[in-house]
Amino acid sequence: MLLEVRDLHVEFRTRDGVAKAVNGVTYGVDEGETLAVLGESGSGKSVTAQAVMGILDTPPGRITGGEVVFQGRDLLKLKEEERRRIRGAEMAMIFQDALSALNPVLTVGDQLAEMFTVHRGMSRKDARAKAVELMDRVRIPAARERVRQYPHQFSGGMRQRIMIAMAIALEPALIIADEPTTALDVTVQAQVMELLAELQREYRMGLILITHDLGVVADVADRIAVMYAGRIVESAPVHEIYKAPAHPYTRGLLDSIPRLDHKGRELYAIKGLPPNLTRIPPGCPFHPRCPLARDVCTTDDPPLYEVSGTRGSACHFWRECLDG
Ligand code: SF4
Ligand code: MG
Repeated sequence: MLLEVRDLHVEFRTRDGVAKAVNGVTYGVDEGETLAVLGESGSGKSVTAQAVMGILDTPPGRITGGEVVFQGRDLLKLKEEERRRIRGAEMAMIFQDALSALNPVLTVGDQLAEMFTVHRGMSRKDARAKAVELMDRVRIPAARERVRQYPHQFSGGMRQRIMIAMAIALEPALIIADEPTTALDVTVQAQVMELLAELQREYRMGLILITHDLGVVADVADRIAVMYAGRIVESAPVHEIYKAPAHPYTRGLLDSIPRLDHKGRELYAIKGLPPNLTRIPPGCPFHPRCPLARDVCTTDDPPLYEVSGTRGSACHFWRECLDG
């Protein structure tokens, strides 16, 4: 495994009390593999990623347990200096909002070139040439001219391509993309996702794709981990999830995306809201919203049951759910 997150716990101090943002998350990504992490906002998917990257704001966020093993080393045991080196060269992150992630007062060429002068000790001239090459690689037209422009002079889609160029610049082993296309138009979304998938294959990178949109990941992910209230509630190969979800929450997410084969059918919305993380309900945290819930669900917290060798579900009634 390239990356293994094991039993990760993250807490936040809030005015309401301690929010348990991540509650024992375990997942892994192999070289060349794409793991989609799916869930509503507040499910802990971004916080988990920030803990992996080592960019969790501390305080108020605090890792209270677990391991993040990357290329055989537990990152949580490394010094900040070493983590910073890994963050630049071995793992990179792509954010939803490229405009705020990029530096507004530097040209995109300077920002790309800086990756090579700082991390690779290249001359400015060589680094500039690399910057143009990268902009070409992510298919930004007229790269040689546009390299002198500032982030705000690019469209949202083009800016996201620049973010992708920054992320792949040093050929990292792992990329974490947090809602990389959420802010874009649907057609641009597809193009950016295609580009990301193509580069991932070419460089054989591990990719963690964080999204709230199950529709986005169908074609690019190998596995899906569904998060709810800071835990993984289902984890499975993507085709198995699409065929038959083994958790009512996954089923709800599936039924709430438009699908060609379900044309005309009314879209379903999961009732209610995700829980306040300072007061996670006892038993199964999904029980207040679950159409299959019964008494035992209000008292017994389901473990991640092994559905098959490659699949887990944190539902007492996963069999029933699988049978639809
Ligand atoms: Fe629903 Fe109960 Fe399964 Fe939780 S354990 S998802 S409440 S059926
Ligand atoms: Mg988020």
